[in-house]
Amino acid sequence: MKSLWLESSPQIPTDTFVANAQYDSVVVGAGITGLTTAALLTRSGQRVAVLEARSVGAVATGNSTAKVSLLQGTQLSAIIKHHGADLARHYVTGNREGQSWLLRFCDEHGVGYDTRDAFNYAVTDDGARLLSEERDACADGGLTATLEDTSELPFPVKRTLRVAGQAQIHPMEVLAALAADLRKHSGQLFDGVRVTGVKTGSAKGDRISVNTPRGDLAAHNVILATGTPILDRGGHFSVLEPRRSYAVAFTVQDEIPRGMYLSVDSPSRTLRTADVEGRPYLIVGGNGHAVGRQAHTQALVDDVIRWTQEHFPTAQASFSWSAQDYRPASSVPYVGRMPVGGHSIYTATGFNKWGFTNGVAAALALSAEILGGHMPWAKELYKTRVGKQDALSTAKAGAGVGLEMVSGWLSGLTRSSHAQPPEGQGSVVREGARPVGICQVDGVTHRVSAVCPHMGGVLSWNDAEQSWDCPLHGSRFTYDGTRLEGPATRDLSAP
Ligand SMILES: Cc1cc2nc3c(=O)[nH]c(=O)nc-3n(C[C@H](O)[C@H](O)[C@H](O)COP(=O)(O)OP(=O)(O)OC[C@H]3O[C@@H](n4cnc5c(N)ncnc54)[C@H](O)[C@@H]3O)c2cc1C
Repeated sequence: MKSLWLESSPQIPTDTFVANAQYDSVVVGAGITGLTTAALLTRSGQRVAVLEARSVGAVATGNSTAKVSLLQGTQLSAIIKHHGADLARHYVTGNREGQSWLLRFCDEHGVGYDTRDAFNYAVTDDGARLLSEERDACADGGLTATLEDTSELPFPVKRTLRVAGQAQIHPMEVLAALAADLRKHSGQLFDGVRVTGVKTGSAKGDRISVNTPRGDLAAHNVILATGTPILDRGGHFSVLEPRRSYAVAFTVQDEIPRGMYLSVDSPSRTLRTADVEGRPYLIVGGNGHAVGRQAHTQALVDDVIRWTQEHFPTAQASFSWSAQDYRPASSVPYVGRMPVGGHSIYTATGFNKWGFTNGVAAALALSAEILGGHMPWAKELYKTRVGKQDALSTAKAGAGVGLEMVSGWLSGLTRSSHAQPPEGQGSVVREGARPVGICQVDGVTHRVSAVCPHMGGVLSWNDAEQSWDCPLHGSRFTYDGTRLEGPATRDLSAP
């Protein structure tokens, strides 16, 4: 599956990797967070390299729905329940700074975007109650939101919650402009280079060694903008729930809503429009679930198509895709120095599907911290660290992880090794004591070890993406075992 954005991406030139080069900062990951951080650091005169394992925007950023919105479902209600109204105010301030920076960057670099009102909508009484709570949470957080009883949606809704003047972007156009800005200021961008390790020097002030299969680089600061942090140094994987969801772009002959919509009832639905290469689209998404814990993911794509055609009878699906983001146990992102590496390794994660404001806010905060600046909202917002305060909230997700570990190994051990999956399907079988993944793609049978190299979870088959997905911490691999995303840094081994 390939997103509308990646299909219509501008060409993004990159540089030729030279091993053993030295930098002030190395940024790992060329999504919205990494490229914004890198652009900010190069603008201030730093020598910066960005290392991207795949291609620019290949993971979450290029596969999102790309709303740049301060209205974020019921996010503020959750933050207030968890931390109180003061932190919600810092969250809104940080997100507003992120949104303003990004839109100003677009204005200054000729990148188009649409200004739209953002709506939460409810189709049930429970949902309507959630909207009232979120309206109050918005007021406490310093965000003006209004409840309304009518809607332009072509089906009955109980209520909507509106925040005026938000935006929607083409994420690859924005990444292309950030990459160009980075390179204009002498930053370097290397794609197809996967970071496999980071070694800190023994003396204070020593450069950090960034390891890749193509050689090492050295830097004073390393920023892991990898979605979920690789390297496990901060234990983030234990407080992040990887959640995958689906999106489909439709051509529609009927009138389509102008606003950006998000349901607060289940199953979730997100809607926006896009004008790409002169053609108008309606984008509809939803059906989120924990990574690796859903059988027959293709049925979830089909369900989005069925739902859309029910409400927009002329809708024709043109592109479908899926992606994952990380839900933080503490309800706010984890951003800042990692508790290792002489305090010069930084990360930013846990955007809970709101990375176009949160990722840019994180980039502003990290670049300020590295350059010696001061952002009062960031000091408060990012003081939540991975640790004790998350123990209770993660107990549930942790219990799920424990169960998956045991049931994955047991089910792998109980199946027969004679299974031959049909075209497009895969299954985990037992060979000796080891779980082995067997799948059939384009008429070819592939066999891989079904054990995740990150922490030993047993993988499950994702038929929508033809990938092996880990139910523990969200690492994913192609049908033949190449690492796609997540905290793992290695490919699957041979069975
Ligand atoms: C379906 C969906 C819809 C969404 N819609 C919205 C929305 O409407 N609005 C919004 O604000 N947010 C949305 N989000 C969330 C948003 O897309 C993410 O929060 C954001 O893109 C994260 O950006 P990032 O740069 O941190 O991570 P990514 O975009 O995932 O970038 C991380 C990069 O790091 C690279 N990388 C990883 N490991 C390594 C390694 N070892 N070496 C080198 N490179 C590595 C990856 O290849 C990747 O390119 C959505 C998310 C999903 C899943």
